[in-house]
Amino acid sequence: MRARRVITPEGTRAASVHVAHGRIAAVAAWDAVPAGVPLVDAGDDTVLMPGVVDTHVHINEPGRTEWEGFATATQAAAAGGVTALVDMPLNSVPATTTLAALREKRRAAEGQLFVDVGFWGGVVPGNTGELAGMAAAGAIGFKCFLVESGVAEFGFVREAELRPAMVELARLRSQLLVHAELPGPIDAAALEQARTRPDPRRYATYLASRPRAAEDQAVALMIALCRDTGARTHVVHHASSDSLPAIAGARAAGLPFSAETCPHYLSFAAEEIPDGATAWKCAPPIRERANRELLWQALRDGTLGLVASDHSPCTPALKQQERGDFAAAWGGISGLQLALSVVWTEARARGFGLEDVVRWMCAAPAALAGVSLHKGRIAVGADADLVLLRDEATFAVAPERVLHRHKITPYAGRTLAGVVESTWLRGRRVWHRGKLEGQPAGRTFSRGAA
Ligand SMILES: [Zn+2]
Repeated sequence: MRARRVITPEGTRAASVHVAHGRIAAVAAWDAVPAGVPLVDAGDDTVLMPGVVDTHVHINEPGRTEWEGFATATQAAAAGGVTALVDMPLNSVPATTTLAALREKRRAAEGQLFVDVGFWGGVVPGNTGELAGMAAAGAIGFKCFLVESGVAEFGFVREAELRPAMVELARLRSQLLVHAELPGPIDAAALEQARTRPDPRRYATYLASRPRAAEDQAVALMIALCRDTGARTHVVHHASSDSLPAIAGARAAGLPFSAETCPHYLSFAAEEIPDGATAWKCAPPIRERANRELLWQALRDGTLGLVASDHSPCTPALKQQERGDFAAAWGGISGLQLALSVVWTEARARGFGLEDVVRWMCAAPAALAGVSLHKGRIAVGADADLVLLRDEATFAVAPERVLHRHKITPYAGRTLAGVVESTWLRGRRVWHRGKLEGQPAGRTFSRGAA
């Protein structure tokens, strides 16, 4: 296929991308097209980019398949230009915290995947002995919580439990992910709210219940543990601008420490969230406008290097939209299908190019997952996971066109830039002009191999 604009690791240029056996065989001059092969000639209004790699997706199958499942999630991924995703170890039952559970995940995924899927394992109290086996069986890395996870079967770890697990992960040369909020400031806020009884329907009440200090103290702890143990440490869904200097300092000191943020933190602002609007509830919470702009600044200066969706759906009943009680509603935002367009819409309004979005959403997550050779870039030898994006075209988000199992999304009605015209998975077109194509041909992948 060829396009006037192809985003390669060396920059954007006119090129022809030759595909053979599902891989990129050559990236050649625009007119260097071999005779007698099928040619996809991209229109001038489209740009050819690598498929998005989304390293933060909660699929919830098996066990809570009524929340989301492999078929619906990977269909939504294909529609949104995501060709590889990594499933989170919690909200499914069993949680992916043992080798047996990892095998069960793989079995549940079989025959259902429209894009490629990897699996994070979990670090929970008492499972350090499972980590080596799961790593050997292909777990992409391991996630832990420092605070209540929201589900009983995925416990959180304290420093005394986490430290030996990180020593083990360093030995295995694996990757730790951390939900970085500490209970102290959250418990203190809860005591305060028990006394003052603010309206649980107000967004401001929810925001005050998860203060920045919970993130900031957790980040400080994780930097110290990273320094002590040498384990590669990555903070997921980072939201507090107050700890960005600490993250920048850790990185400047050469620690293997990184952090991601999410489309919802980059696009919404607490001041604009209506009271009772539980579709916006997630943890850590969406913070103020000024905080959002500092997250963008951190993407600009490299403190944050990665954007992932944190697609975390549940049933409509659990979102309790009629009641609008932020304390009672499930926390989690559904955004897998829309992440690329959301980030591109906001990025271009701030002077970024699509090359930046490709760095944050394709190359960096592929590196985090240890699959850079195969995913996240248009280069010889990589999988032909490709997206043709009409980057200047816009669309209004219509919930009925969202392929997530449930249609509740805070992006409903928003106008976004960047229409995914076509998506190819290993050279096979899986999405074209609003429709899925073909049978599920996605595969599961492991750290270091696709
Ligand atoms: Zn998550």
